[in-house]
Amino acid sequence: MNLILLGGPGAGKGTQAKKLIDKFQIPQISTGDILRAAVKEGTEMGRKAKEFMDAGKLVPDEVVIGIIKDRLAQADCKKGFILDGFPRTVPQAEALDKVLTSLSSKIDHVVSIDVDEEALVTRLTGRRTCKNAACGQMFHIKFTPPKKEGTCDKCGTELYQRDDDNEATVRNRLATYNQATAPLIGYYKVKGLVRPIAGVGSIDDIFNKIVGIVAGGHACACGR
Ligand code: AMP
Repeated sequence: MNLILLGGPGAGKGTQAKKLIDKFQIPQISTGDILRAAVKEGTEMGRKAKEFMDAGKLVPDEVVIGIIKDRLAQADCKKGFILDGFPRTVPQAEALDKVLTSLSSKIDHVVSIDVDEEALVTRLTGRRTCKNAACGQMFHIKFTPPKKEGTCDKCGTELYQRDDDNEATVRNRLATYNQATAPLIGYYKVKGLVRPIAGVGSIDDIFNKIVGIVAGGHACACGR
């Protein structure tokens, strides 16, 4: 099962991907996580990417396409994968099609999680993330606060606010999404792959909707 999770920043792609990993035992591939790890390690790619990320802009296509090419060729992707935050532009989607064709594979579902823009701003500016990359659990200071302030419930590591989760950068990320990423809905609609989901309600409700669609092979676009 090969999935793409599509949706604005803060729509819940990462949260849902983590639950889908547990349910289906397939890896999440988050270009954002891979880039943040490169920034933390101080690699050349990380240093270049940081400028774009801090400005709420997209890292150049060739960089992220290279990352995805390498990652999809790894053995753990054979059973399936969840793409979170990739593709984000039509050229990235076209490159993905080529890579998958060369691997005799294809995308099965594009789950599009729809959330109102102002709700996204509120979600992102209050978001706190676990510093332990292997955990990566996310919290919200108002909606899903950790039991102990500043500490991850799951692994006990300190929480932090991502550099790009401040309001000015969030607004830029939303503008970038509308301009560069939203056209992907049309790209995948033509291929009959889009499964829209209202990204409001509890995390479990949204998760159950996604599972209903991908596990049940539900192919219509009603969002059920
Ligand atoms: P995310 O964690 O998915 O919100 O990504 C954080 C940031 O990483 C984005 O705002 C971009 O600067 C960069 N990024 C992640 N994925 C991509 C991608 N597929 N294409 C270009 N830039 C990306």
